[in-house]
Amino acid sequence: MPIINGAFVFSALTKHAGNSKTGAIAVSYTSQDTCPATCGIKAACYAKNGHALLQWNKVTTGVRGKPPEDFIEDIKSLEPFRWFRHNIAGDLWHVNGEICKLLFEKFVEAMRHLPRKWTYTHHQLTPHNQELLRWSIKRGFTVNLSTESKTEAAKLFQLGWPVCCVTEEGLPNSYLHNDVRFVQCPHSADNGITQCSTCGNGDPLCNRADRKFVITFPGHGTRKKKAIEACSD
Ligand code: SF4
Repeated sequence: MPIINGAFVFSALTKHAGNSKTGAIAVSYTSQDTCPATCGIKAACYAKNGHALLQWNKVTTGVRGKPPEDFIEDIKSLEPFRWFRHNIAGDLWHVNGEICKLLFEKFVEAMRHLPRKWTYTHHQLTPHNQELLRWSIKRGFTVNLSTESKTEAAKLFQLGWPVCCVTEEGLPNSYLHNDVRFVQCPHSADNGITQCSTCGNGDPLCNRADRKFVITFPGHGTRKKKAIEACSD
């Protein structure tokens, strides 16, 4: 049974999303129990409203989705032209904050044939997690580190990680913080014209592990106020 960290855990794949942010790429959701307690934006998560929450609840309760091993088989069956954004909501499978090594390795290997694939994580950078995430990035699956602190984002970026940062609204589309360039997600910057499927002229920014900037996401969703409160310099 898919019990991880004392909870049943499921993941669900949509091969051809109709999501207004991502566009028609493959996307997934993973049970809420995978989100670490240390996530600074947990109470204000953008996915806790509307359609995303509906889907996320279905996956969390097992109405939709599959145990990790079966989900990995679904990933293998994706056509080799698909782009894949893992975890519209949810995080990497873990036990007490340590990413499940065997499952994660199988998962990364299962998507080797996909040309673009990325996700985000709020898991802490324990030595164990660092090793797995560095390995994953080398294997072509970009795991963006998520934070709500610009200073933390700049620090992680300088350590060579791909980083995303939730920020308050009203900041310039591009600016420097602690000598690191911060660039706003094009979807946010152009009011939704760009989608992940059209972002970056064939190489979405979030897929680029070696990009020269931190990607920013201004707080949004019905919990925007709380999200913005969680942000810091
Ligand atoms: S930066 Fe590009 S790939 Fe990343 S979330 Fe925004 S639109 Fe999608």
